[in-house]
Order: sequence, then structure tokens, then C-alpha cells
Amino acid sequence: MKLSEKAEEILERLWVEVEEEGNVFTDLDKITLFPDEPVYRELTDAAFIEVKEGRVYLRPEGKEEGRKIVRRFRLAERLMMDVFNIRGEAAKEKACQFEHLLNEGVDTKLCTMLNHPSTCPHGKSIPPGECCIEARRSGNLGVVSLTELKPNEEGEIAYIQTEDNKKMQKLMAMGVLPGNRIRLLQTFPSYIFNVGYSEFAIDTNMAREIFVRKQQGSG
Ligand SMILES: [Zn+2]
Ligand SMILES: [Zn+2]
Repeated sequence: MKLSEKAEEILERLWVEVEEEGNVFTDLDKITLFPDEPVYRELTDAAFIEVKEGRVYLRPEGKEEGRKIVRRFRLAERLMMDVFNIRGEAAKEKACQFEHLLNEGVDTKLCTMLNHPSTCPHGKSIPPGECCIEARRSGNLGVVSLTELKPNEEGEIAYIQTEDNKKMQKLMAMGVLPGNRIRLLQTFPSYIFNVGYSEFAIDTNMAREIFVRKQQGSG
């Protein structure tokens, strides 16, 4: 069942109230939830919440759902900051819109791309998914900066994070593009790598801006 965005936002708030702020219930007024609204019916019909005397209680089913929503929102926040370099209010607004697109499966892909982050940009913990537990168990590193590879390790380029267009163009001209394979050859005095059949040298600052999806078993 697909929840409305409004319902997702309410569950998200309730989950934070209960799990992080330790409140057993929340007043209806506090979350501006009114019994004559469709979203109220949506949440009570799904048995996600229970309302008694103007107090909202998050039921176990609602807690489970809320946890997933908070996870998607905080992953979206990381995406805005780490990949798109969007910060502050704009980042929050974008993350709020983006979280609704991260349905089953997409959040796992995003989480893997971001290397299973444990906290959002504000330091709040991101509830771990199956992928995070699996990654920790297998020691799979997910996406790392090129500077974290060892010589002779290789991977697939995931994304480039730079605000400098000239640098971006320079990297693109080398074939440093998402999806291409890259092999690191040397890290000192400069970073030397292979893309396709060509070899290039760049400095540490530039190497730090190339993010690589390390495949299991490489290196
Ligand atoms: Zn946050
Ligand atoms: Zn994960």
C-alpha cells in the first residue's frame, strides 16, 4: 500500500517523537492532525496510529513504517549534501521531495552508492537497512574516493564531486565518467590511473573528487 506524502511526513515526525525524543504519545494539535482529514483516516485504517483522548500513539506497524521513512529522508539528505553539494534549507526542501521517490529497492541502491552512511548531515543516525548490515559483514566498501584505493585496485566510476567546471571538463576529457572502469596505478607523488587504454596523472585534490564503486573481490 502506497501512503500519501502527508501520511509519510506525519509518521516520520511521530517516529522521531517516540524513538528519539522518548515521548510515548504526541498531542494531535502538536502534529496538526485533525480527525476530519483524509490522512487521519489513512493512518488509523492502516493501524499505524491509535488516537485516545487527543493523544496519538504510534503502533508497532507505524513504528516499522516510520523507521523506513526516516531512513529514506536521511539518505536523501546525504545525497543532497555529498553528491549534489546542496546545503541548508534548500537541501532540506529537496530531501523532503526526494524521499518519496525512494521506494523499496531504490533506497538500497542509494545507500550502497553513498557507502552505507550511519548518520545524516546533522549527525542524526540513519536507521540501517539490510544492505548496511550485509556490507558490514562482508567488508564491502561500496563507493569510496579514488584516494582510498590502493595501487592496482580497480572499480567503476560512480560520480564526480566537484563544483569546478574546468576540473569537471578536464576529467571528462580523460574519460573519467560514471560507469567507466578505472584502475589506480600509483599514489605518489601524484595519482596515476588507467581509464580505457590511457594513463593519466592528477593531484590528490582532484583524486579526492572521483568516487569509485569498489567491486567485491577487487584488490
Ligand atoms: Zn538530518
Ligand atoms: Zn546500506
